[in-house]
Amino acid sequence: MISIYRDLASKTAQPLHLGLTEAGMGAKGLVWSAAAMGVLLSEGIGDTIRISLTPRPGGDRREEVYAACELLQSLALRSFAPSVTACPGCGRTTSTTFQEMAERIQQYTRDMMPIWKTQYEGVENLTLAVMGCIVNGPGESKAANIGISLPGTGETPSCPVYIDGLHFNTLKGSYAELSAAFQALVDDYVATKYRRREPGTAVPEVSARPKITLEQPERSPLPVLR
Ligand code: SF4
Repeated sequence: MISIYRDLASKTAQPLHLGLTEAGMGAKGLVWSAAAMGVLLSEGIGDTIRISLTPRPGGDRREEVYAACELLQSLALRSFAPSVTACPGCGRTTSTTFQEMAERIQQYTRDMMPIWKTQYEGVENLTLAVMGCIVNGPGESKAANIGISLPGTGETPSCPVYIDGLHFNTLKGSYAELSAAFQALVDDYVATKYRRREPGTAVPEVSARPKITLEQPERSPLPVLR
């Protein structure tokens, strides 16, 4: 796919649709599609994309769209929704709280985006971090707009929160309390940091970002059709 599209892009200025058909199910479909399309998109090749995933019976067809959005956002080509960084977990934590919190806040931002994007400019660029222990927690949390570092095994049960790189406060409590407090911080941040849209202002479909590399081969002019 990569060599064919590179060749096509060198021969025509026509818009190119990228898609790895029959990529497969689940992780295989995601990885194969991202590997092929990520290379091409980072070279500036491709105007529309589809990530073809074979769904599980009764599966959610929107997974294809979410995956395509994530791919474009990971390459900094477009922003669609706030991104949530979460650590994968390892032997330093036995808790599942960071996983549950990360999933919950991800879903919350997805649910809120249809409302937020009509009210606030640039909210799709919000970055959040939910981390599992002190080793990488504070560092990753400081790199996000809002980050929380949960305690790993044997650590003091407290959760420092960082906002725009600075320690903001330290939360304690049950999973439900931590989740509610973190969500409230996200709501406050959105309401205070992003400019309100003027009523009646058109909302852009997506936020375009500059392409990260432009090593696209020069395209030859279109042949004249007779
Ligand atoms: S942040 Fe801590 S728990 Fe999470 S992967 Fe890193 S070392 Fe492991």
